[in-house]
Amino acid sequence: MKEKKIRKIIFATGNEGKMKEIRMILADLNVEIQSLKEAGIDIDIVEDGKTFEENAIIKASTVASECDAVVIADDSGLEVDYLNKEPGIYSARYMGEDTSYHIKNANIIERLKGVPEEQRTARFVCAIAAFFPEGRIVTTRGIMEGLIAYEEHGENGFGYDPIFYLPKYKCTTAELTSEQKNLESHRGKALREMKRELDRYEDSNSK
Ligand code: IMP
Repeated sequence: MKEKKIRKIIFATGNEGKMKEIRMILADLNVEIQSLKEAGIDIDIVEDGKTFEENAIIKASTVASECDAVVIADDSGLEVDYLNKEPGIYSARYMGEDTSYHIKNANIIERLKGVPEEQRTARFVCAIAAFFPEGRIVTTRGIMEGLIAYEEHGENGFGYDPIFYLPKYKCTTAELTSEQKNLESHRGKALREMKRELDRYEDSNSK
């Protein structure tokens, strides 16, 4: 019987939805997965990276300095091609952190007024960083391509989902079930890729 190398994973987030998703995807690793709160970690993280990967690494390494576990962190956002990839890494802060997504979404639709379908391309991007106790860092990236809709649709999901149209499903990501969204989403893809990295780490290091 091999001794487990990864005993605990801390996911550097306060978001319950993300915790649920990561627990589902990493379930068969059979390791305890804790949120920051569950791990009793309360620190300020300054996300001043220039890319999704840099921000994920900043979050993971800041938390790793407080504990002795594998730490995973993510950073994600929406890139709208017609807006030079805005809001990008500033997706959560776009028009102010406390501004409602109804207002943010209406603003993006307004900025794309009159823009034809072929120029409404956009993508959700998610970078995930894992910081291993010996200091090694691994990142993965997942992308979901779509189009900015002409109006908001759907009640599921969060953030920019009501304006993110998936031609394959002929609806926005706010109209998908959570199972459908996990299958297609940037975060689902990046997490599944990270799961493969964690499996490799476990295999290469177990005694
Ligand atoms: P993060 O939690 O710092 O990664 O912030 C990402 C921001 O990007 C969120 O606050 C949303 O505005 C946006 N975002 C990321 N993923 C999604 C998604 O799956 N649906 C809708 N909006 C998303």
